[in-house]
Amino acid sequence: MYYTDADFAQAMDALGIVGIDRLVIHELLANRAIRGMESYGLWNDSTAMRAESLEFRMGLDPDKLFDICRGLSKREIIGFNVHNATVSSVWLGRVFAETVQEFASEREQKDQERTSLRAPVHKGVKGALRLDAHLLFESTCELCGLQGEQGRDGNGNKLIAARIVKDGGPYAENVTLVCRSCVHEFRGIDLPLECRTVAQMRIAREKGNAAPRRVATKPPPKRKQITIEAIGLGKVTVVDADNGTVT
Ligand SMILES: [Zn+2]
Repeated sequence: MYYTDADFAQAMDALGIVGIDRLVIHELLANRAIRGMESYGLWNDSTAMRAESLEFRMGLDPDKLFDICRGLSKREIIGFNVHNATVSSVWLGRVFAETVQEFASEREQKDQERTSLRAPVHKGVKGALRLDAHLLFESTCELCGLQGEQGRDGNGNKLIAARIVKDGGPYAENVTLVCRSCVHEFRGIDLPLECRTVAQMRIAREKGNAAPRRVATKPPPKRKQITIEAIGLGKVTVVDADNGTVT
């Protein structure tokens, strides 16, 4: 966990630390005066601020500092040591640490929620489903029928357990096995719905039936339109192979 200036400010607001008290806390934060707070993970070091230094930086006399420390320490916002009836050292206390921690973890949680809203849902086919796809389809592409071995097609490319409907999740009812070139052809679009699914193959296996026949086919390649433009009739030469005449 990390802490921001906003976390500290919110903690001070929540604890009603204002005026000179707030300035003291600012000094302690700037000096990382966190003795006894390492268990809260605020920082890794653990120190107290010398009272003389605090008095000097804030232009306080020892009596005034004593009053401030007494007030804040009652609520465990700070802790302090006394030597010869004057404050000798000051540090941030348990209640302050706990309050900061609450605000910091609240902020982190909100950040995480925002991130998870943004993060795309993982659509990859994994685990047992992926294994079953390879096993039940016997390393054969559902679309072109290309047969492979041990998860690879005849060209050494991995066969891919893929979702049929791209908006659908990686479920047994929506997963089939295809080769790499078929995957490329269908990039971003749904596979033909007649593709058999892992779910269908599993049912056949459980019933001891033969797997249903593969009926899905790769759609024919889009017909190329060839336009032959006749620019003019050239002279056609025909050579008669028998007698060598040319016409
Ligand atoms: Zn294929």
